[in-house]
Amino acid sequence: MNLLIIRLIIFAVLFWAGLKLYRLYRQWRLDQDDASRPRTIDDGRMVRCAYCRVHLPESDAIRRDALWFCNESHHARFLEEQQPKG
Ligand SMILES: [Zn+2]
Repeated sequence: MNLLIIRLIIFAVLFWAGLKLYRLYRQWRLDQDDASRPRTIDDGRMVRCAYCRVHLPESDAIRRDALWFCNESHHARFLEEQQPKG
């Protein structure tokens, strides 16, 4: 009779320990996922060059007035084409 109770206790302890370990493991996995997740690259949004209409990150673009350009020469060409001809 005593043997049965001891077996039950051992079984309960093993079950509890397994559950505890499983929860620790799951938490560890979640922490690993958080650490390995790449940082969002959303700090630079995409803008469009007003001259060639190429999309590029805002950090690489130059801003003139309310418009974006991929480089200074496209800004110059854009201004040239804006000039009234004749
Ligand atoms: Zn351009």
